[in-house]
Amino acid sequence: MVPTPLETEIRRRVAMAGPMPVRQFMSLCLNHPRYGYYTTRDPLGRGGDFITSPEVSQVFGELIGLWAASTWHRMGEPENVRLVELGPGRGTMMLDALRAVQVVPAFRAAIVLHLVEISPALRQRQQQAMATLDVPMLWHESFDEVPDGPLIVVANEMFDALPVNQAIKQFNGWYERVVELDPDDNLAFGISNDVIPLFDQLVPVELRDAPIGAIYEWRADNLPLAIARRLIHEGGAGLVIDYGHVRSAPGDTLQAVGRHAFVNALHSPGEVDLTAHVDFQALAAAVESMGARVSGPIEQARFLGNLGVDRRAATLRAAAPPEKADEIDGAIKRLLGTGETEMGKLFKVLGIAHPSLGKLPGFEPEPG
Ligand code: SAH
Repeated sequence: MVPTPLETEIRRRVAMAGPMPVRQFMSLCLNHPRYGYYTTRDPLGRGGDFITSPEVSQVFGELIGLWAASTWHRMGEPENVRLVELGPGRGTMMLDALRAVQVVPAFRAAIVLHLVEISPALRQRQQQAMATLDVPMLWHESFDEVPDGPLIVVANEMFDALPVNQAIKQFNGWYERVVELDPDDNLAFGISNDVIPLFDQLVPVELRDAPIGAIYEWRADNLPLAIARRLIHEGGAGLVIDYGHVRSAPGDTLQAVGRHAFVNALHSPGEVDLTAHVDFQALAAAVESMGARVSGPIEQARFLGNLGVDRRAATLRAAAPPEKADEIDGAIKRLLGTGETEMGKLFKVLGIAHPSLGKLPGFEPEPG
């Protein structure tokens, strides 16, 4: 197999500097300025590599819009609010959200839109999609560039794209998992030479007795802290929606997807999507350490249910031609279903807020 240009680059780096941590490998695969997966393409949709909730049904973005309107009301209806989306993909969720909030004109008039997008290809796509929108909008490469002011932050399937570190347990401690060249000169996973000092005390309590060979993943990214700090200083709330686990647990969740199928993470670097599950316990702990209050995490099915997904779907069905009814039902089932290929249970939603906002809309406990 001819190596991809990025594989050639990774081999060069490994030959020069030795095995590279999984985090660095993932970061190069996704965000290398020339050959990175997101740098070079729009991976979404049926013809692409994967499909996300907003691309499955317009109802998803509409409900996120109504959630934002209701959160804005909780915030005391500030006259200006920064509506921030992290990793907007094709812009679909935001377009659906802004259409839905036409029913709350005062909120819509208060919005300045801030789109945080690392990929030049997707930024261009978003700019085209939103060209005719009648709200002020700005693009940023990182969240830190969003100016001060009360804010509402939303992110769907963005945190899973943040590179993860992996450590692997051995008899005398934890070692960083790395990508190296095996004796046959193929890219392979390996274990670094040196134990990570004091790591036993850093892993969550639940993992202290993990068996030899167990893998622990963590994200060193300071994005959660930056969001929490901003919400505490400026007021507002955020919503993180992604696949992941509610409790920290050992396991290798690094996965590669190309053309809607799982593939080997070490094959075709830069040509396939690489993600890892979001550890919602770690995420919640990080933002709470800054003084923010969390709501959830809860499963996507319950969150959307609380926001009135059934009613919204019924309205959409009633307005659509009869031959579309099955398609609409299928899409809603995909968003809410508990099966492995469905998103209702696998995806979790975490709310983050200034403590004065209390528990956020959509996180009401199950009746009974
Ligand atoms: N939210 C969209 C797209 C999800 S794909 C949807 O649900 O359809 C992941 C998105 O996050 C892409 O837009 C990708 O370019 C962006 N992204 C990945 N890493 C990022 C980073 N570090 N900073 C900002 N955006 C990032």
